[in-house]
Amino acid sequence: MLGASKIESSEYSDLTGVLRWFILLRWIAAVGVSAAIVVGRFVVGYDFPYALLVGVTALLIAGNGAYSFYFSVRKRSVLSRSEMSRFFHVQTICDYLFLFVLIYFTGFVGNPFVYFFVFHIMLTSFIFPKRTVATYVVALVAVFVAAAYGISSGILRYYPLFQEVSTETPAADHLGIRTFALATTLTIVAYLVANIKDRIEERGHRVELELDRYRSLDKAKSNFILQVTHELRGPLAALKGYHEMILKGLTGSIPDRTSEMLARADRRTRNLLNIIDEMIDFAYMKSEDDIDYTPVDLSMLDVLSYNADLCTTAAREKDIRIYVSAPKELVARANRDLLNIILGNLITNAVKYSPASTRIIVSAQEEEGEVHLMVKDQGIGIDAEDLERVFEEFYRARRAREIERDGTGLGLSIVQRAVNLLGGRIGVYSEVDRGTTFHIYLPKSRTQEME
Ligand code: ADP
Repeated sequence: MLGASKIESSEYSDLTGVLRWFILLRWIAAVGVSAAIVVGRFVVGYDFPYALLVGVTALLIAGNGAYSFYFSVRKRSVLSRSEMSRFFHVQTICDYLFLFVLIYFTGFVGNPFVYFFVFHIMLTSFIFPKRTVATYVVALVAVFVAAAYGISSGILRYYPLFQEVSTETPAADHLGIRTFALATTLTIVAYLVANIKDRIEERGHRVELELDRYRSLDKAKSNFILQVTHELRGPLAALKGYHEMILKGLTGSIPDRTSEMLARADRRTRNLLNIIDEMIDFAYMKSEDDIDYTPVDLSMLDVLSYNADLCTTAAREKDIRIYVSAPKELVARANRDLLNIILGNLITNAVKYSPASTRIIVSAQEEEGEVHLMVKDQGIGIDAEDLERVFEEFYRARRAREIERDGTGLGLSIVQRAVNLLGGRIGVYSEVDRGTTFHIYLPKSRTQEME
């Protein structure tokens, strides 16, 4: 009946942890009991059945050794739930037996260590469902009552703990009261722990539900941002196109003052477009489940050049030159959209946070089986205390805000998420007023993991 009950604890991984913990506790118990036997025999000189106690302790050590061996062997081929359940029951019964034998031969309920059963009951209540715990408590109490009866009626021998006080069998009522106190203590402990466990599990369940609700709200919000930003992007892009047409003189000549004002309007429009693009990327990355991350073979030189070209207009205005370097044959298997998000953001930032007439280097090379991408600028740099925070959502360093009013502080958090999705890692190195370099390492081929 015990074997059929299922284990009812929160998580499977928790149970593996509990098993390991059990094994450790048993080693501690083995050391404690061995020490007690040595003290009892050689220091205090009590008259216990030492051969039996040593035998039981040796069994505990051997048993625990066998458990930990079995556990470490089976760990690699994950234990099934029913196996785990059987494993727990065998161990729990052995632990009860071990403690009972020790207690019986060292004063029975007169031994103050009999209350160590409280720990056993707590652990049992923590692991098993209520009905199984009740079975354990009833069985344990029954064994104690039977032993108490056996001792008081002379059927079983009594082994007193404090032999200098008395070696006589205690009166039946003494034994009865002690056994009763023990039984009620164990029952109450089992009840309390089971109740506390129920409450914790119920709260955990409620938190899960709240989290689910929060996740779906968050997703709805991202979808909303995605829709709105897409709607805004169209007219803004058209506006930018009209500005460019007028500025290029395609609609006829305009006075210098008008041209100057229009150029300003054009700059602000482009900033706004950048912000909208960041928001689109942000919302896009948040709706992770809906995105198709299929990887393809990508020529790094092509991807770098494509993204560098997108930024040349903005760079030219500041007389910034972007150099691209990558071996022609360097191919990485990755997702194009994610790579464009990463490089687009990093190169845009490099242009944004660099003074006029500087250089930006965008490169890729193979390094120890990985693709190492680098975006290096000669810009304002990032203060050491800001460096750790630049990947946080909405974080903008003070120096950056002084130089560039428009910005969301979302770009690098998006980049980081995209790098994670590609199974890579990102790092940044920066020196104030000398420049910043972003390093990205991507696995060369992630076919299996991505599909
Ligand atoms: P945004 O550019 O909209 O402020 P990001 O998330 O792209 O947001 O960047 C976060 C912050 O990191 C920026 O505000 C800036 O302080 C810093 N930063 C990012 N890239 C650079 C760079 N190339 N040079 C200097 N500072 C940078």
